[in-house]
Amino acid sequence: MSAVVNEAACMGCGLCSDLCPFGAIRMEDRVPRISAEKCKSCGLCVSSCPRSAMDLSACSNSTLAKAIWRAALSARRPRCLVFACDHCGREEVAKEVKAAGLRNVRFARIPCGARVDPVQVLEALASGLDLVVLMCEPDTCGYEDAVLHADVKLELLAACLEELGLRDRFHVLRCTPQEASEIAKTIIELAGGSERH
Ligand code: SF4
Ligand code: SF4
Repeated sequence: MSAVVNEAACMGCGLCSDLCPFGAIRMEDRVPRISAEKCKSCGLCVSSCPRSAMDLSACSNSTLAKAIWRAALSARRPRCLVFACDHCGREEVAKEVKAAGLRNVRFARIPCGARVDPVQVLEALASGLDLVVLMCEPDTCGYEDAVLHADVKLELLAACLEELGLRDRFHVLRCTPQEASEIAKTIIELAGGSERH
């Protein structure tokens, strides 16, 4: 299912059209027209829109907001949320983290790292999350340039968190499915070392 635009919120800037790696968005009278055939549902346009006018039914803004709130309301700390796609061994990592007995770590399924909005990460930390992890592997990503745009945004986010003294609260882990055990260990170390009730 393709991205959708809320025309009432859109200001017609055309950024989504410029960024879409698949040429799926055409501007028509300053309104984005999305081709359902071309859209690969990477989420880059959704996470990049300055007016939050885009959404993706496969991974909607409300679904991610709920995942953030669930993680932020966890009674166990550090409250940790891991954003992970299907191409980086999310299920295997989640199984290993669960087997280690960590109940303070939640996983949010995303189509691509490009779906994550840096503002959403800042909001997540402001909402009470202690730790946000993004699992992302450009080499196995099926979304072409989307992940390159994601990297630029994540670098800006890292710089912003550095300024705020929160740099240690956000981690990007490069992970192929073959590296799931290694990544699970890293997450267990990050989120389990100081688990408190
Ligand atoms: S980026 Fe957002 S505001 Fe700009 S044209 Fe696309 S949907 Fe509209
Ligand atoms: S979700 Fe990705 S492929 Fe679909 S319109 Fe947005 S940027 Fe293009």
